[in-house]
Amino acid sequence: MNENHYSQQTALLHSSALEDHTGAVSTPIYHSTTFHQTDIDLFGRYDYSRSGNPTREVLEKVIAELEGGIKGFAFSSGMAAISTCFLMCSQGDHVLISEEVYGGTYRLITEVLNRFGIQYSFVDMKDLHEVARSIKVNTKVIYMETPSNPLLNITDIEGVVKLAKANGCFTFLDNTFMTPLLQQPLSLGVDVVLHSATKFLAGHSDVLAGLVVTGNEDIAEKLSFLQNSFGAVLGPQDSWLLIRGMKTLHVRISQSTESAWKIARFLEARKEVEEVYYPGLSYHRGREIHVRQSRGAGAVLSFRLENGEAVRKLSKAVQLPAFAVSLGGVETILSYPAKMSHASMPREERKRRGITDGLLRLSVGLENVDELIEDLSMGLDRIRESTVSKVINF
Ligand SMILES: *Cc1c(COP(=O)(O)O)cnc(C)c1O
Repeated sequence: MNENHYSQQTALLHSSALEDHTGAVSTPIYHSTTFHQTDIDLFGRYDYSRSGNPTREVLEKVIAELEGGIKGFAFSSGMAAISTCFLMCSQGDHVLISEEVYGGTYRLITEVLNRFGIQYSFVDMKDLHEVARSIKVNTKVIYMETPSNPLLNITDIEGVVKLAKANGCFTFLDNTFMTPLLQQPLSLGVDVVLHSATKFLAGHSDVLAGLVVTGNEDIAEKLSFLQNSFGAVLGPQDSWLLIRGMKTLHVRISQSTESAWKIARFLEARKEVEEVYYPGLSYHRGREIHVRQSRGAGAVLSFRLENGEAVRKLSKAVQLPAFAVSLGGVETILSYPAKMSHASMPREERKRRGITDGLLRLSVGLENVDELIEDLSMGLDRIRESTVSKVINF
């Protein structure tokens, strides 16, 4: 498809061009785990579904094209994708990771990979000097996440890539929040781009999946070997769900980004809201870097209320957002980092990182944005109302 230079918007809708037999417009789901061999010495294109499955392969091609890489890999979850990629490291290697990394990645590094002799350090990736100072002779991988969760901090991707290349390290980037429509890290020199496809790519809060793409032949070969060896592959049914979800990625991202902008502006004007974190806002730290390296601010924003009590009142009052973990669904999702994604982090450590008891994260979905704003407005009113009545009561 890319040979024809179609836009991502168009290419997404014509991803199912696999079926030569029937002309099916929707990708067939191949449940077969094994494939007939026509001759004792002749393996066909497929032999066993862990090594290669026709439905999964369509998905892997789609994500590779979207990210502008040479090969894509589909896994049974975002964590399965991340874990498999880290298996490129061996005992004695060191990995340098953004301190604002996804909680599951933090756990994998600090509680699993460490037992296999893989060393790690966390750094503030906003600070290139600190990144440079933290690279060791045995650093194998520098791992980025930008914008980060939940404060949407921005890492200078090209800056980190330059440091990595000068020191012979690989760069990995978790692109879950942006999707390849808004950010294409491989074009900025990153070696491996990873996704929790559970979020925006699938988009309907109904499938767990992970995707990986590389533009480097050697790494592609290593990852093919690791994907087959470790075996955490995505099943054909889930591959199909993801292929289907991704067809509407462009229209979903466009609309929810537009709505996120409106909601960010609404929130910053409300006095109950102390701070709004959204890469689109002119004062957002690192915004110029984000503008340079991406094509949009995305559909996730965070905002800070005074305290946990205000959060409780707002979350009880709002009708539309699902109050839940996760993000990237068609429905708006309101999350509470202090008690959800960062619950395992000690309170002081959380506070140091700005994840206070008043912080909320919103993943904006496809509802009518005026109705979303009305709902949030009513919720914010409730915070003040009860404060006032408390004052009267006393
Ligand atoms: C959800 C998430 C993951 C983990 O993905 P799963 O599909 O839940 O395993 C990794 N990185 C980020 C940024 C995420 O939001």
